[in-house]
Amino acid sequence: MSTHWLDTDVEVRRIQPFRATKTYVCPGCNQDITPGTGHLVVVPIEAPDLRRHWHHACWAHRDRRRPGRLR
Ligand SMILES: [Zn+2]
Repeated sequence: MSTHWLDTDVEVRRIQPFRATKTYVCPGCNQDITPGTGHLVVVPIEAPDLRRHWHHACWAHRDRRRPGRLR
């Protein structure tokens, strides 16, 4: 599925717990996503190297956490 984040087209992929083998830092809460935790990968279509790993809940609430809300 594709959506928008910070005015960028992104693809959101679900990572199943058994595929989560590394620790990532979630940009929504700055907490670790520990191995074995199902989460999301958000991949900018134009810049796939800039993908970020998010907790499900943090991604769902990302608009609340966005600094300097853009309208
Ligand atoms: Zn988080």
